[in-house]
Amino acid sequence: MNGSLSTLEPPAAGAARTPLSEALEQFDRAARALGLDAGTAGLLRSPLRELRVSVPVRMDDGTTAVFEGLRVQHNDARGPFKGGIRFHPSADAGDVRALAMLMTWKCAIAGLPLGGAKGAIVCDPRRLSLGEQERLCRGWIRQMARNLGPAVDVPAPDVMSSAQHMLWMLDEYETMVGARVPASITGKPVGIGGSPGRAEATGYGVVAVLLEALGRLGLDPRGATASIQGFGNVAQHAARRLAGFGATVVAVSSWDAEDRQAYTFRKPSGVDPEQLSAIANRFGTIDRRAAADLGYEVLPGSAWIEQEVDVLVPAALEGQITLGNAPRIHGRVRLVVEAANGPTAADAGRLIEDRGVLLVPDIVANAGGVACSYFEQVQGQSNFYWERQDVLRRVDALMTAAFADVHERASRDRVPLRDAAYLIAVERVARACRERGWV
Ligand code: GLU
Repeated sequence: MNGSLSTLEPPAAGAARTPLSEALEQFDRAARALGLDAGTAGLLRSPLRELRVSVPVRMDDGTTAVFEGLRVQHNDARGPFKGGIRFHPSADAGDVRALAMLMTWKCAIAGLPLGGAKGAIVCDPRRLSLGEQERLCRGWIRQMARNLGPAVDVPAPDVMSSAQHMLWMLDEYETMVGARVPASITGKPVGIGGSPGRAEATGYGVVAVLLEALGRLGLDPRGATASIQGFGNVAQHAARRLAGFGATVVAVSSWDAEDRQAYTFRKPSGVDPEQLSAIANRFGTIDRRAAADLGYEVLPGSAWIEQEVDVLVPAALEGQITLGNAPRIHGRVRLVVEAANGPTAADAGRLIEDRGVLLVPDIVANAGGVACSYFEQVQGQSNFYWERQDVLRRVDALMTAAFADVHERASRDRVPLRDAAYLIAVERVARACRERGWV
């Protein structure tokens, strides 16, 4: 196969950087370093399949609204496509393409027998009633169903989508195929096919690699300080877990949909994640007045990055650390752990690494979620559910092993952790494509 197939073009010089241009640039570096042939590189630069659908939904006021639904299936050489569905008003096809590609690398690094995909529904669930959300979930699945299934493509939650959304989707899918197929969607509620530990798995996995990284830097979690961007599912569980290891989480930030801006909540003696969760809504928006009453300083959203701490954890969305704000990172920071997908622009990442800060990339740091999704599928397929502690112990072991592989490769090849992670992932996926005879 030659490299002239219609692969995704790199952005023109001077073009705006996007999550997709960043993902492609990082892939190209790995492909060059591995000496990948043009055909294999061309195949891996592009998704194998992209689906775009219109989902009509009867709204509560009797009108019909049409929502855009997306699913990008990047590569399934190592196993069925796997990845979340995000609900976001500004989700777009390019970002979803980038995120699908990241899923392929993430599953490969974690050693999971899965490929990579990502989906989206362009909507703001905060402005939809539960009935509207349910009809939207069922509509998305009806349009996508023929390209999904436990052996084809397995969706899961992502930004602003929940276990309830997954259950509505599963129910619709099962109604269409006329059978119970719990392994066709993960992130379901515990008790109806969900895995114990799934809600906290991503945050726990983030902290597992964070502790490994601290150890490599000779730092003890007791006495370490951290600042976290975001207060969604991943951030909340990471904050709790980190505090449980004796670290002090000095600040978290939270997006306020009403104000259309973020705020940072700081307490130098350490925020109490349980207390903040109790005054946050289910999208992680913290009630500012209640927080102030509890003694939190309420600062601008950008303040999280300027804190004098040992560890920064971006746990919100992509493109948050850029050349514009990276210079504001305090000189004390030794470690950045990317809990979100694509939170650091490539050039900003290099700036951070040049300052001697260890940066644990997203495709390693947040793999705990999809690892637990895999265990959920395994449990669903045998219809035998494990104890929460067993699930989280396995997630922990898998994350620790993945971090060790990446760290070892980085030391061996004298490259940053992100480059090492890409080298391992691209090598594994390229090998699977070759062995299948695709390239
Ligand atoms: N949405 C999560 C991620 O970005 C989990 C995906 C999954 O469990 O399939 O990794």
